[in-house]
Amino acid sequence: MRPFKYERATKPEDAAKMVTANKSAEYLAGGTNIIDLMKEDVMRPDELVDVNNLSFKQIKSVGNMISIGAMAKNKDTANHPLIKQNFPLLTQAILAGASAQIRNMATNGGNLNQRTRCVYFYDTAMPCNKREPGTGCGAMEGLNRMHAIFGWSEKCIATHPSDMCVGLVALDAVVKVQDETGKTREIPFNDYHRLPGDSPEKDNNLKHGELITSIEIPKNKFANKSYYLKVRDRASYAFALVSVGVGLEMDGDTIRGARIAMGGVAHKPWRALIAEKMLIGKKPTEKLFEQAAKMEMERAKPLEHNKFKVVLGERAIVRALKMATNGGNS
Ligand code: SF4
Repeated sequence: MRPFKYERATKPEDAAKMVTANKSAEYLAGGTNIIDLMKEDVMRPDELVDVNNLSFKQIKSVGNMISIGAMAKNKDTANHPLIKQNFPLLTQAILAGASAQIRNMATNGGNLNQRTRCVYFYDTAMPCNKREPGTGCGAMEGLNRMHAIFGWSEKCIATHPSDMCVGLVALDAVVKVQDETGKTREIPFNDYHRLPGDSPEKDNNLKHGELITSIEIPKNKFANKSYYLKVRDRASYAFALVSVGVGLEMDGDTIRGARIAMGGVAHKPWRALIAEKMLIGKKPTEKLFEQAAKMEMERAKPLEHNKFKVVLGERAIVRALKMATNGGNS
């Protein structure tokens, strides 16, 4: 690992000032991804600003929202009664990710900012536009079984690895951030991460030095009919081939509101807006779910080795919708 300067911030403004002042500085929270990336020489910050002493650890109800602190641990968030009761989808999504040991360390803010697990990104002998812009994409002609089927560009076909973020985009969460002057802004979750376009080195729409302070989730009526389904190569500690987070709000036997988000299919958590729209105002039947899933997946543009994700995605949407309709029971 290359040498770097280590600083511990005690105030958010100080942390943001330190990172803003140095283009090569990064925040250190749980460290479950960035330390690996530094050991592998994939990321080379010359300064780490430790934000573990900042106070953003709350999980509390504020009016019509539940606020989860950027520094709260993933395991505390997943197991908090407010989250389990209001957003079981988020609890399921977090617990589907990583391993218990990693969830004990990883923070909510860090979960949002984790990097892709594209193997070519990690292999410094291979070209990668995300790691070194302009060098090419090793995955494009390589083994791209795990890669994107929606929204990719010629520059990058990577997927976002988070399960938690799939839950958060389905729940219409908002990310609160603060800059070095103390100024705050709110970013709707669907706009937080970005598609690769011509600049895959940028995973999200944060400005350098902006610090996530909290994630705000509006209360909703999806709790009784929601489900997170993750399909992966092994039962734990594996990233999604495809995942689907679903929430339904019923009006009698009619669907009044629907949220569907997917993981493992794009550079950002993917909202299945076409499928959502098809469900509104209709009765939940298997046929309707199949039609909605088919319509959504018709837009997919698979690569050489991941054509199976189109069928898998369709079936996963149907399965998640059925599970949600039955209150999480098969
Ligand atoms: Fe790099 Fe993206 Fe290509 Fe992977 S898919 S090698 S992250 S440019």
